[in-house]
Amino acid sequence: MSWLTNNKDVVGIGLALIGLLVTAYTVRLARSAQRRDGFMRIHEALLAPDVQEGRRLLFGIGSLDDVPAGDSREHQLINRSLAMYDTLGYYVRQHHIDRRAALDVWHHSLREVTSPARVFCDARKSARGSGSHPFPDLEWLLAEASSYRARRDCCTAATPTASPTIGSVPNKRTHD
Ligand SMILES: [Zn+2]
Repeated sequence: MSWLTNNKDVVGIGLALIGLLVTAYTVRLARSAQRRDGFMRIHEALLAPDVQEGRRLLFGIGSLDDVPAGDSREHQLINRSLAMYDTLGYYVRQHHIDRRAALDVWHHSLREVTSPARVFCDARKSARGSGSHPFPDLEWLLAEASSYRARRDCCTAATPTASPTIGSVPNKRTHD
Protein backbone atom coordinates (compact mmCIF):
# COMPACT_ATOMS: atom_id res chain seq x y z
CA MET A 1 0.00 0.00 0.00
CA SER A 2 2.81 2.32 0.87
CA TRP A 3 4.38 1.58 -2.54
CA LEU A 4 1.20 2.80 -4.27
CA THR A 5 1.14 5.89 -2.10
CA ASN A 6 4.76 6.64 -2.79
CA ASN A 7 4.40 6.04 -6.55
CA LYS A 8 0.97 7.40 -7.25
CA ASP A 9 2.28 9.65 -10.03
CA VAL A 10 3.86 6.71 -11.82
CA VAL A 11 0.68 4.66 -11.38
CA GLY A 12 -1.40 7.56 -12.68
CA ILE A 13 0.76 7.90 -15.78
CA GLY A 14 0.63 4.15 -16.32
CA LEU A 15 -3.16 4.08 -16.11
CA ALA A 16 -3.39 7.06 -18.47
CA LEU A 17 -1.16 5.28 -21.00
CA ILE A 18 -3.29 2.14 -20.78
CA GLY A 19 -6.36 4.30 -21.36
CA LEU A 20 -4.76 5.85 -24.42
CA LEU A 21 -3.83 2.44 -25.81
CA VAL A 22 -7.35 1.11 -25.30
CA THR A 23 -8.80 4.20 -26.99
CA ALA A 24 -6.40 3.90 -29.94
CA TYR A 25 -7.25 0.23 -30.32
CA THR A 26 -10.98 0.94 -30.19
CA VAL A 27 -10.65 3.70 -32.80
CA ARG A 28 -8.66 1.37 -35.01
CA LEU A 29 -11.28 -1.37 -34.71
CA ALA A 30 -14.07 1.10 -35.53
CA ARG A 31 -12.15 2.41 -38.55
CA SER A 32 -11.53 -1.09 -39.79
CA ALA A 33 -15.24 -1.91 -39.47
CA GLN A 34 -16.14 1.27 -41.35
CA ARG A 35 -13.74 0.42 -44.17
CA ARG A 36 -15.16 -3.10 -44.36
CA ASP A 37 -18.73 -1.81 -44.48
CA GLY A 38 -17.77 0.74 -47.11
CA PHE A 39 -16.22 -1.97 -49.25
CA MET A 40 -19.27 -4.21 -48.91
CA ARG A 41 -21.56 -1.38 -50.04
CA ILE A 42 -19.53 -0.56 -53.14
CA HIS A 43 -19.06 -4.26 -53.85
CA GLU A 44 -22.83 -4.81 -53.80
CA ALA A 45 -23.34 -1.76 -56.01
CA LEU A 46 -20.85 -3.21 -58.52
CA LEU A 47 -22.92 -6.39 -58.61
CA ALA A 48 -26.19 -4.61 -59.41
CA PRO A 49 -27.74 -6.07 -62.59
CA ASP A 50 -27.51 -2.87 -64.62
CA VAL A 51 -23.85 -2.40 -63.66
CA GLN A 52 -23.08 -5.97 -64.68
CA GLU A 53 -24.94 -5.38 -67.92
CA GLY A 54 -22.79 -2.31 -68.54
CA ARG A 55 -19.63 -4.39 -68.03
CA ARG A 56 -20.94 -7.06 -70.40
CA LEU A 57 -21.59 -4.42 -73.08
CA LEU A 58 -18.14 -3.01 -72.52
CA PHE A 59 -16.58 -6.22 -73.80
CA GLY A 60 -18.12 -5.57 -77.19
CA ILE A 61 -15.90 -2.51 -77.62
CA GLY A 62 -12.70 -3.07 -79.53
CA SER A 63 -12.41 0.27 -81.29
CA LEU A 64 -14.03 3.70 -81.35
CA ASP A 65 -16.48 2.46 -83.96
CA ASP A 66 -17.89 -0.03 -81.45
CA VAL A 67 -18.82 2.61 -78.87
CA PRO A 68 -22.62 2.93 -78.69
CA ALA A 69 -24.13 6.33 -79.46
CA GLY A 70 -24.11 8.74 -76.56
CA ASP A 71 -27.89 8.85 -76.26
CA SER A 72 -28.33 5.07 -76.33
CA ARG A 73 -29.26 2.88 -73.37
CA GLU A 74 -26.12 0.83 -73.98
CA HIS A 75 -23.94 3.90 -73.69
CA GLN A 76 -25.61 4.85 -70.41
CA LEU A 77 -25.16 1.36 -68.98
CA ILE A 78 -21.49 1.26 -69.87
CA ASN A 79 -21.05 4.74 -68.47
CA ARG A 80 -22.70 3.68 -65.23
CA SER A 81 -20.53 0.60 -64.87
CA LEU A 82 -17.38 2.68 -65.35
CA ALA A 83 -18.67 5.33 -62.96
CA MET A 84 -19.02 2.63 -60.32
CA TYR A 85 -15.42 1.53 -60.86
CA ASP A 86 -14.43 5.18 -60.69
CA THR A 87 -16.18 5.40 -57.31
CA LEU A 88 -14.34 2.30 -56.14
CA GLY A 89 -11.07 3.92 -57.21
CA TYR A 90 -11.94 7.10 -55.38
CA TYR A 91 -12.72 5.28 -52.13
CA VAL A 92 -9.50 3.28 -52.33
CA ARG A 93 -7.43 6.39 -53.09
CA GLN A 94 -8.96 8.23 -50.18
CA HIS A 95 -8.40 5.22 -47.88
CA HIS A 96 -12.10 4.97 -47.19
CA ILE A 97 -11.88 1.30 -48.08
CA ASP A 98 -9.03 -1.15 -47.96
CA ARG A 99 -6.91 -1.27 -51.14
CA ARG A 100 -6.05 -4.93 -50.76
CA ALA A 101 -9.65 -6.02 -50.20
CA ALA A 102 -10.79 -4.08 -53.26
CA LEU A 103 -8.02 -5.35 -55.52
CA ASP A 104 -8.20 -8.94 -54.22
CA VAL A 105 -11.77 -9.17 -55.40
CA TRP A 106 -11.71 -7.00 -58.50
CA HIS A 107 -8.20 -7.11 -60.00
CA HIS A 108 -8.97 -9.54 -62.81
CA SER A 109 -12.24 -7.92 -63.72
CA LEU A 110 -10.46 -4.56 -63.83
CA ARG A 111 -7.74 -5.94 -66.10
CA GLU A 112 -10.35 -7.34 -68.44
CA VAL A 113 -12.13 -4.03 -68.83
CA THR A 114 -8.97 -1.96 -69.17
CA SER A 115 -8.72 -1.91 -72.94
CA PRO A 116 -12.42 -1.37 -73.76
CA ALA A 117 -12.75 1.14 -70.92
CA ARG A 118 -9.94 3.24 -72.38
CA VAL A 119 -11.54 3.14 -75.82
CA PHE A 120 -14.86 4.20 -74.32
CA CYS A 121 -13.23 7.05 -72.38
CA ASP A 122 -11.40 8.21 -75.52
CA ALA A 123 -14.75 8.30 -77.35
CA ARG A 124 -16.28 10.35 -74.55
CA LYS A 125 -13.37 12.77 -74.56
CA SER A 126 -13.52 13.30 -78.30
CA ALA A 127 -17.32 13.65 -78.26
CA ARG A 128 -17.05 16.38 -75.64
CA GLY A 129 -13.95 17.95 -77.13
CA SER A 130 -12.41 17.69 -73.67
CA GLY A 131 -8.93 16.47 -72.84
CA SER A 132 -9.79 15.69 -69.25
CA HIS A 133 -10.35 12.08 -68.29
CA PRO A 134 -14.00 11.35 -67.51
CA PHE A 135 -13.05 8.84 -64.81
CA PRO A 136 -9.66 9.75 -63.32
CA ASP A 137 -9.98 7.42 -60.34
CA LEU A 138 -10.89 4.55 -62.65
CA GLU A 139 -7.72 5.18 -64.63
CA TRP A 140 -5.71 5.11 -61.42
CA LEU A 141 -7.44 1.89 -60.34
CA LEU A 142 -6.75 0.22 -63.70
CA ALA A 143 -3.06 1.00 -63.28
CA GLU A 144 -3.12 -0.45 -59.76
CA ALA A 145 -4.86 -3.62 -60.94
CA SER A 146 -2.48 -4.11 -63.86
CA SER A 147 0.42 -5.04 -61.59
CA TYR A 148 -1.50 -6.40 -58.61
CA ARG A 149 -0.80 -9.94 -57.49
CA ALA A 150 -3.25 -11.45 -55.04
CA ARG A 151 -2.12 -13.99 -52.49
CA ARG A 152 -4.72 -16.35 -53.86
CA ASP A 153 -4.83 -19.19 -56.35
CA CYS A 154 -5.80 -16.90 -59.20
CA CYS A 155 -2.35 -15.29 -59.05
CA THR A 156 -0.18 -17.81 -57.20
CA ALA A 157 -1.18 -21.23 -58.54
CA ALA A 158 1.15 -22.83 -61.09
CA THR A 159 -1.91 -23.30 -63.27
CA PRO A 160 -4.11 -20.35 -62.46
CA THR A 161 -7.64 -21.21 -61.46
CA ALA A 162 -10.60 -19.23 -62.59
CA SER A 163 -10.49 -15.79 -61.10
CA PRO A 164 -12.64 -15.23 -58.03
CA THR A 165 -13.85 -11.97 -59.43
CA ILE A 166 -17.49 -11.54 -60.07
CA GLY A 167 -19.40 -9.73 -62.71
CA SER A 168 -17.14 -10.20 -65.66
CA VAL A 169 -18.02 -12.15 -68.75
CA PRO A 170 -17.25 -15.88 -68.77
CA ASN A 171 -15.14 -17.19 -71.64
CA LYS A 172 -13.68 -13.77 -72.27
CA ARG A 173 -11.46 -13.94 -69.25
CA THR A 174 -7.81 -13.33 -69.75
CA HIS A 175 -5.25 -14.04 -67.12
CA ASP A 176 -1.77 -12.76 -67.03
ZN1 LIG B 1 -5.34 -12.92 -59.39
